[in-house]
Amino acid sequence: MHTPPVNPLLDTRGLPRFSEIRPEHITGAVDELLRDANAALELATSEAVPAEYEALSAVLDVATERLGFAWGAVSHLNAVVNTPELRAAYTENMPRVVEFHTRLGADERLYAKYRAMLADPRSAHLSAARRRALDNALRDFVLSGAALEGAAKVRFAKLQEAQAELGQKFSEHVLDATDAYAYHASAAELTGVPEDVQQAARKLAESESREGHKITLHFPSYFPVMQYAEDRALRERLYTAYVSRASELGPPERDNTSVMRSLLELRQEEARLLGYGNYAEVSMVPKMAESPRQVSEFLRDLARRARPSAERDLAEAREFAARELGLPELAVWDLPFVSEKLKEQRYAYSEQEVKQYFTEPKVLEGLFGIIETLFEVSIRPDDAPVWHPDVRFFRIERKLPGQADAAPELVAQFYLDPYARPGKRPGAWMDDVRSRWARPDGRLQTPVAHLVCNYTAPAEGRPALLTHDDVTTLFHEFGHGLHHMLTQVDELGVSGISGVEWDAVELPSQFMENFCWEWDVLRHLTAHVDTGEPLPRALYDRMLAAKNFQSGLQTLRQVEFALVDMRLHAEPGSEADIAALVAEVRREVALLPPPKFNRFLHSFSHIFAGGYSAGYYSYKWAEVLSADAWSAFEEAAASGAVLDLETGRRYRRQVLEAGGSRSAMDSFKAFRGREPNIDALLRHQGLA
Ligand code: ZN
Repeated sequence: MHTPPVNPLLDTRGLPRFSEIRPEHITGAVDELLRDANAALELATSEAVPAEYEALSAVLDVATERLGFAWGAVSHLNAVVNTPELRAAYTENMPRVVEFHTRLGADERLYAKYRAMLADPRSAHLSAARRRALDNALRDFVLSGAALEGAAKVRFAKLQEAQAELGQKFSEHVLDATDAYAYHASAAELTGVPEDVQQAARKLAESESREGHKITLHFPSYFPVMQYAEDRALRERLYTAYVSRASELGPPERDNTSVMRSLLELRQEEARLLGYGNYAEVSMVPKMAESPRQVSEFLRDLARRARPSAERDLAEAREFAARELGLPELAVWDLPFVSEKLKEQRYAYSEQEVKQYFTEPKVLEGLFGIIETLFEVSIRPDDAPVWHPDVRFFRIERKLPGQADAAPELVAQFYLDPYARPGKRPGAWMDDVRSRWARPDGRLQTPVAHLVCNYTAPAEGRPALLTHDDVTTLFHEFGHGLHHMLTQVDELGVSGISGVEWDAVELPSQFMENFCWEWDVLRHLTAHVDTGEPLPRALYDRMLAAKNFQSGLQTLRQVEFALVDMRLHAEPGSEADIAALVAEVRREVALLPPPKFNRFLHSFSHIFAGGYSAGYYSYKWAEVLSADAWSAFEEAAASGAVLDLETGRRYRRQVLEAGGSRSAMDSFKAFRGREPNIDALLRHQGLA
């Protein structure tokens, strides 16, 4: 008889005992799990464990997976039911867990063992998935500095530390600069700004015993003013403050100029230590894109193709501004305002009106129906301990072909935590609870996922109503979820999303968003909350037209950011004159050149503090993949229905089930029969 451990975090066999986990369980559990993981690392690197795949996995993977499972439950609770006690326990223990993984990743004894495994002639007989997991592991060891020796190794560790500190400093400067600014506007200055934004600004001023309206540079305050304020001087004032944050144009104590220069220098030094010509090459190693040059060419091609459409967007905005708004000279700080007015005039529809058609039960029924039809599974309610009464739990099952009478096979399970509430982090995400794995003890572990959203909870006696944006987000996260849950790969390191290249990981998620723009699908996703009527066609047409509004201009803007990022990291020495490089890219790409005082790079946290260095292009890169994958369904729809079984089966097998067991390019080609191309993206965004 198995007696469950008293500390629920140490019970790692089944599903997490979410309802029982308390802050006081955390430190004790982490103590024990880290002790076990460290012991496993020592054992794995000793002579007692041979350099063989299964032997190593049975010792090390079992211990680290257990740590990951328990710590995953803690981070999850910290994100969805935060309390001061939980946060304190989380913050106290997180560095310990991070430290273990960093040490493991750079352990030269373990690296030697993996190399010995690869050198062993028997490794030729490893399955393709195991071989890939092994290759990935070796690659990551090298990128973590495990192959370096002596002074180089010491220096590499120093570089990591210094970069982490500078990244932190960069974020703090941005945050401090954002917080430091306020403008107290009069009611007259805020003419045109939505009442809820004005009210929030009034409350903010009141809380500091001030008159008027306090406008800040935080996005929910800043952006609506830029979009709606009729007062041009106010827009110019706020824009100027916003784009010069954390630069030499403000106080020196939060100027990011030298932080950026140092970060770029350190990254180039890291690249040299690892034997690469520049940092962008290092960034490419675990990605689908092959080289900085390939990425730059991709971005420039995209800019070239989007340009005619962007020129039209801008000409229209200029013409509209002059004719309707009395603005003969369109300035950069006019663009959001003018665009909003133009959009309203052309495609006016209210988000409020659309919402009445997307009731939660209907949307979920539609989403589950699509998954069940296209991927040949069924989704049923299931039971598990949860952290909040609103959370639901489901199982995904499959009937084995030719065995109609047999019990269905369990494929995966997932939690759905749908509503916004206090103490829950905003946004939406998919996270893994555990991954598919044929465990060394012979058990087959099926995947479990978290699907977290933040749409508004239902009012008493009525279903929850979703905006179209909420619906798209829900589908997006389910795309990640299906990638994690429908995998048929048995190797822990490459099953589901694990091991998928970083710039390809948004393929399945963005792919799912397309359903939310498909008329034949939307009709079945919608039922008016009072009348039960599906979404009217005319409303749908306006939504679709608004979707691609100014997509040319937006594409050029993204290309500008991505190209600046790539060139800064691909051209050692660029740090000496960052402004010159930015100006050069703008001359090449931007249509409405920003004013001289624009220092957007000084607050571009993605690439200086957020892990997107030489990686910002990934957004557009993955869009190409998902649009092209979707176009296979469009082709099928031309002669049948968009929910085409044959195409769905191929997509499931070649993309979702294959997970990280082979390269994203191989999976894509196996599904599509050719390499990806940009045409579908251009067509979908109205740029073709
Ligand atoms: Zn995503």
